[in-house]
Amino acid sequence: MEILALDLEGVLVPEIWINFAELTGIPELRATTRDIPDYDVLMKQRLRILAEKKLGLPDIQQVIDRMGPLPGAVDFMDWARDNFQVVILSDTFYEFAKPLMRQLGNPTLLCHKLVVDGQGFITDYTLRQKDPKRQSVKAFKSLNYRVIAAGDSYNDTTMLAEADAGILFHAPENVIREFPQFPAVHTYADLRNEIARSSTRAITP
Ligand SMILES: [Mg+2]
Repeated sequence: MEILALDLEGVLVPEIWINFAELTGIPELRATTRDIPDYDVLMKQRLRILAEKKLGLPDIQQVIDRMGPLPGAVDFMDWARDNFQVVILSDTFYEFAKPLMRQLGNPTLLCHKLVVDGQGFITDYTLRQKDPKRQSVKAFKSLNYRVIAAGDSYNDTTMLAEADAGILFHAPENVIREFPQFPAVHTYADLRNEIARSSTRAITP
């Protein structure tokens, strides 16, 4: 039995914070862990800006709803779910991902949660566990699943290493250079080929 574990942002949907910053015209929200390496400091800053701009979860979800999956992502997911049990492993939050997951046919998603008050304002966030992508792959393996994983960034590399087969998709040059052990592909057609090649079954890419 095989599970296909996919990262969300950069693989199936755009980077949510970067696009949210563009759609709302709030450039301060473009900051990522590349600018502020401490994730907690970064998230607290994001939540402070959202509160200052009086943006509650319903406003935020309306903006995220306008993003849509990456071109080709829906067809890719149809193929993936036809051939595998598919699980999305993401460092986003359920509340942010929801409008996009709906557009992807609501596949299983394991990620984090926001704390939202009675007025719909985000007051805090809860991380499900440390190194959640790798822990999820480990857990699937303990259930006797063989795992093929694909992701685009640093936060995916422990998941790719833990998986039986790890693939970089849409990854930037520096990540590809630093992790030459993973095959790197850039189109959904090539990703399908690589996943089919990594499978122990005969799969039509
Ligand atoms: Mg990503």
